[in-house]
Amino acid sequence: MAEQEPLYARRREEMVEQLRRYGITSARVLEAFRSVERHRFFAPGDRAYAYNDCAFPIGYGQTISQPYTVAYMTSLLVERCPVGRILEVGTGSGYQAAILDSMGYSVYTVERVAGLCRRASLVFRELGLDIEQRLGDGSLGWEEKSPFDGIIVTAGAPRPPAPLLTQLADSGVLIVPLGGSEGQRMTVITRRKDRFEEELFHMFAFVPLIGREGWRKG
Ligand code: SAH
Repeated sequence: MAEQEPLYARRREEMVEQLRRYGITSARVLEAFRSVERHRFFAPGDRAYAYNDCAFPIGYGQTISQPYTVAYMTSLLVERCPVGRILEVGTGSGYQAAILDSMGYSVYTVERVAGLCRRASLVFRELGLDIEQRLGDGSLGWEEKSPFDGIIVTAGAPRPPAPLLTQLADSGVLIVPLGGSEGQRMTVITRRKDRFEEELFHMFAFVPLIGREGWRKG
Protein backbone atom coordinates (compact mmCIF):
# COMPACT_ATOMS: atom_id res chain seq x y z
CA MET A 1 0.00 0.00 0.00
CA ALA A 2 2.71 2.47 1.02
CA GLU A 3 4.30 2.26 -2.45
CA GLN A 4 1.11 3.78 -3.88
CA GLU A 5 1.53 7.00 -1.89
CA PRO A 6 3.46 8.99 -4.58
CA LEU A 7 0.77 7.98 -7.11
CA TYR A 8 -2.00 9.14 -4.77
CA ALA A 9 -0.19 12.43 -4.14
CA ARG A 10 0.02 13.03 -7.89
CA ARG A 11 -3.63 12.15 -8.42
CA ARG A 12 -4.57 14.48 -5.57
CA GLU A 13 -2.68 17.31 -7.26
CA GLU A 14 -4.62 16.61 -10.49
CA MET A 15 -7.88 16.64 -8.52
CA VAL A 16 -6.98 20.06 -7.09
CA GLU A 17 -6.17 21.38 -10.58
CA GLN A 18 -9.52 20.16 -11.84
CA LEU A 19 -11.35 21.81 -8.93
CA ARG A 20 -9.55 25.04 -9.80
CA ARG A 21 -10.66 24.73 -13.45
CA TYR A 22 -14.23 24.15 -12.27
CA GLY A 23 -14.11 27.49 -10.45
CA ILE A 24 -13.06 26.67 -6.87
CA THR A 25 -10.84 29.64 -6.01
CA SER A 26 -10.40 29.64 -2.21
CA ALA A 27 -6.73 28.90 -1.41
CA ARG A 28 -7.79 27.43 1.94
CA VAL A 29 -10.21 25.01 0.29
CA LEU A 30 -7.71 23.95 -2.38
CA GLU A 31 -5.02 23.41 0.27
CA ALA A 32 -7.40 21.22 2.30
CA PHE A 33 -8.04 19.04 -0.79
CA ARG A 34 -4.29 18.80 -1.34
CA SER A 35 -3.56 17.74 2.24
CA VAL A 36 -6.40 15.34 3.12
CA GLU A 37 -5.72 11.84 1.76
CA ARG A 38 -9.06 11.09 0.17
CA HIS A 39 -8.11 7.45 -0.55
CA ARG A 40 -8.02 6.77 3.22
CA PHE A 41 -11.81 7.20 3.24
CA PHE A 42 -12.24 4.36 0.69
CA ALA A 43 -12.13 0.60 1.30
CA PRO A 44 -8.65 -0.75 0.39
CA GLY A 45 -9.98 -2.42 -2.78
CA ASP A 46 -11.65 0.79 -4.00
CA ARG A 47 -8.80 3.26 -3.49
CA ALA A 48 -7.99 3.49 -7.22
CA TYR A 49 -11.30 5.39 -7.59
CA ALA A 50 -10.63 7.89 -4.82
CA TYR A 51 -9.41 10.73 -7.02
CA ASN A 52 -12.00 10.52 -9.81
CA ASP A 53 -14.41 13.44 -9.69
CA CYS A 54 -17.47 11.38 -8.94
CA ALA A 55 -19.54 10.12 -6.02
CA PHE A 56 -18.72 6.54 -4.98
CA PRO A 57 -20.67 3.88 -3.05
CA ILE A 58 -19.53 3.39 0.56
CA GLY A 59 -22.04 0.69 1.52
CA TYR A 60 -25.49 0.83 3.20
CA GLY A 61 -26.83 2.48 0.00
CA GLN A 62 -24.82 5.65 0.73
CA THR A 63 -22.09 7.49 -1.19
CA ILE A 64 -19.03 9.61 -0.53
CA SER A 65 -19.83 12.91 -2.26
CA GLN A 66 -17.99 13.93 -5.43
CA PRO A 67 -14.89 16.10 -4.69
CA TYR A 68 -16.43 19.05 -6.56
CA THR A 69 -19.58 18.92 -4.40
CA VAL A 70 -17.54 18.84 -1.17
CA ALA A 71 -15.38 21.73 -2.44
CA TYR A 72 -18.46 23.72 -3.47
CA MET A 73 -20.14 23.41 -0.05
CA THR A 74 -16.88 24.10 1.76
CA SER A 75 -16.38 27.25 -0.35
CA LEU A 76 -19.88 28.49 0.52
CA LEU A 77 -18.99 27.96 4.19
CA VAL A 78 -15.52 29.53 4.21
CA GLU A 79 -16.71 32.70 2.45
CA ARG A 80 -19.32 33.33 5.15
CA CYS A 81 -17.78 31.67 8.19
CA PRO A 82 -13.97 31.54 8.11
CA VAL A 83 -13.55 30.07 11.64
CA GLY A 84 -15.63 28.41 14.34
CA ARG A 85 -17.71 25.42 15.35
CA ILE A 86 -19.26 23.42 12.54
CA LEU A 87 -21.90 20.70 12.64
CA GLU A 88 -21.98 18.27 9.74
CA VAL A 89 -25.15 16.20 9.25
CA GLY A 90 -24.31 12.95 7.40
CA THR A 91 -20.80 11.78 8.34
CA GLY A 92 -20.77 9.08 5.64
CA SER A 93 -17.12 8.27 4.90
CA GLY A 94 -15.90 11.12 7.12
CA TYR A 95 -14.16 12.91 4.23
CA GLN A 96 -16.07 16.21 4.43
CA ALA A 97 -15.51 16.32 8.20
CA ALA A 98 -11.76 15.73 7.69
CA ILE A 99 -11.60 18.56 5.12
CA LEU A 100 -13.24 20.95 7.63
CA ASP A 101 -10.94 19.75 10.42
CA SER A 102 -7.85 20.36 8.28
CA MET A 103 -9.02 23.95 7.74
CA GLY A 104 -8.99 24.57 11.48
CA TYR A 105 -12.71 24.38 12.25
CA SER A 106 -13.96 22.55 15.36
CA VAL A 107 -15.98 19.75 13.80
CA TYR A 108 -19.02 17.88 15.12
CA THR A 109 -20.65 15.28 12.90
CA VAL A 110 -23.77 13.10 13.14
CA GLU A 111 -24.55 9.92 11.15
CA ARG A 112 -27.68 7.73 11.31
CA VAL A 113 -26.10 4.49 9.99
CA ALA A 114 -24.15 2.74 12.76
CA GLY A 115 -21.76 0.92 10.40
CA LEU A 116 -20.71 4.17 8.72
CA CYS A 117 -20.35 5.98 12.04
CA ARG A 118 -18.07 3.21 13.30
CA ARG A 119 -15.99 3.08 10.13
CA ALA A 120 -15.49 6.86 10.08
CA SER A 121 -14.40 6.79 13.71
CA LEU A 122 -11.68 4.24 12.83
CA VAL A 123 -10.40 6.44 9.99
CA PHE A 124 -10.42 9.54 12.23
CA ARG A 125 -8.43 7.61 14.82
CA GLU A 126 -5.93 6.31 12.22
CA LEU A 127 -5.39 9.85 10.94
CA GLY A 128 -5.26 11.31 14.46
CA LEU A 129 -8.17 13.69 13.84
CA ASP A 130 -10.03 15.26 16.74
CA ILE A 131 -13.58 15.18 15.38
CA GLU A 132 -16.59 14.70 17.67
CA GLN A 133 -19.05 12.13 16.38
CA ARG A 134 -22.52 10.98 17.30
CA LEU A 135 -24.80 8.23 16.01
CA GLY A 136 -28.36 9.47 15.57
CA ASP A 137 -30.84 11.54 13.62
CA GLY A 138 -28.90 14.61 12.53
CA SER A 139 -32.04 16.31 11.20
CA LEU A 140 -32.52 17.17 14.89
CA GLY A 141 -29.01 18.65 15.11
CA TRP A 142 -26.86 18.23 18.23
CA GLU A 143 -28.40 20.49 20.81
CA GLU A 144 -25.89 19.92 23.64
CA LYS A 145 -23.06 21.16 21.41
CA SER A 146 -24.94 24.13 19.93
CA PRO A 147 -24.76 26.97 18.97
CA PHE A 148 -22.86 26.37 15.73
CA ASP A 149 -21.27 28.97 13.47
CA GLY A 150 -22.00 26.74 10.50
CA ILE A 151 -24.07 23.64 9.75
CA ILE A 152 -23.49 21.58 6.60
CA VAL A 153 -26.11 19.00 5.63
CA THR A 154 -24.65 16.46 3.19
CA ALA A 155 -27.99 14.82 2.31
CA GLY A 156 -31.04 16.24 0.48
CA ALA A 157 -33.79 17.63 2.72
CA PRO A 158 -37.44 18.46 1.93
CA ARG A 159 -37.18 21.77 3.85
CA PRO A 160 -34.67 23.42 6.20
CA PRO A 161 -34.86 21.33 9.41
CA ALA A 162 -36.22 23.66 12.13
CA PRO A 163 -33.87 22.40 14.92
CA LEU A 164 -30.88 23.23 12.73
CA LEU A 165 -32.06 26.84 12.35
CA THR A 166 -32.51 27.07 16.14
CA GLN A 167 -29.01 25.71 16.76
CA LEU A 168 -27.31 28.38 14.61
CA ALA A 169 -25.36 31.14 16.35
CA ASP A 170 -26.19 34.72 15.34
CA SER A 171 -24.70 35.27 11.83
CA GLY A 172 -24.35 31.46 11.59
CA VAL A 173 -25.00 29.74 8.26
CA LEU A 174 -26.91 26.59 7.34
CA ILE A 175 -25.83 25.01 4.05
CA VAL A 176 -28.39 22.47 2.89
CA PRO A 177 -29.44 20.92 -0.44
CA LEU A 178 -33.25 21.22 -0.66
CA GLY A 179 -35.48 19.10 -2.89
CA GLY A 180 -36.58 15.57 -3.72
CA SER A 181 -35.22 12.69 -5.78
CA GLU A 182 -35.25 14.77 -9.00
CA GLY A 183 -32.46 16.96 -7.59
CA GLN A 184 -31.80 19.45 -4.82
CA ARG A 185 -30.97 23.14 -4.88
CA MET A 186 -27.99 24.14 -2.76
CA THR A 187 -29.33 26.67 -0.28
CA VAL A 188 -27.55 28.90 2.25
CA ILE A 189 -29.56 30.28 5.14
CA THR A 190 -27.93 32.94 7.32
CA ARG A 191 -29.29 33.75 10.77
CA ARG A 192 -29.67 37.46 11.56
CA LYS A 193 -31.01 37.35 15.14
CA ASP A 194 -34.59 36.16 14.61
CA ARG A 195 -34.56 36.59 10.85
CA PHE A 196 -33.24 34.12 8.29
CA GLU A 197 -31.86 35.17 4.89
CA GLU A 198 -31.89 32.64 2.07
CA GLU A 199 -29.54 32.39 -0.92
CA LEU A 200 -30.05 29.86 -3.72
CA PHE A 201 -27.30 28.16 -5.75
CA HIS A 202 -26.92 25.29 -8.23
CA MET A 203 -28.72 21.94 -8.39
CA PHE A 204 -27.03 18.78 -7.06
CA ALA A 205 -27.90 15.10 -6.53
CA PHE A 206 -27.63 13.87 -2.93
CA VAL A 207 -28.91 10.82 -1.09
CA PRO A 208 -31.98 11.71 1.03
CA LEU A 209 -31.82 13.09 4.56
CA ILE A 210 -33.89 10.51 6.45
CA GLY A 211 -35.27 11.50 9.83
CA ARG A 212 -37.85 13.36 11.89
CA GLU A 213 -37.12 16.66 10.10
CA GLY A 214 -36.16 15.03 6.82
CA TRP A 215 -37.77 12.42 4.60
CA ARG A 216 -39.65 9.52 6.15
CA LYS A 217 -37.99 6.77 4.11
CA GLY A 218 -35.08 6.44 1.64
N1 SAH B 1 -20.38 13.86 4.11
C1 SAH B 1 -20.29 12.50 3.58
C2 SAH B 1 -21.35 12.28 2.53
C3 SAH B 1 -22.18 11.11 2.89
S1 SAH B 1 -23.70 10.87 2.00
C4 SAH B 1 -18.91 12.18 3.10
O1 SAH B 1 -18.04 13.08 3.07
O2 SAH B 1 -18.64 11.02 2.77
C5 SAH B 1 -24.87 11.41 3.22
C6 SAH B 1 -24.89 10.68 4.52
O3 SAH B 1 -25.98 11.21 5.28
C7 SAH B 1 -25.10 9.18 4.47
O4 SAH B 1 -24.05 8.54 5.14
C8 SAH B 1 -26.43 8.97 5.20
O5 SAH B 1 -26.48 7.77 5.94
C9 SAH B 1 -26.47 10.19 6.11
N2 SAH B 1 -27.79 10.59 6.62
C10 SAH B 1 -28.98 10.59 5.99
N3 SAH B 1 -29.95 11.04 6.82
C11 SAH B 1 -29.34 11.34 8.00
C12 SAH B 1 -29.78 11.87 9.25
N4 SAH B 1 -31.07 12.19 9.49
N5 SAH B 1 -28.88 12.04 10.24
C13 SAH B 1 -27.58 11.73 10.05
N6 SAH B 1 -27.09 11.24 8.89
C14 SAH B 1 -27.96 11.06 7.88
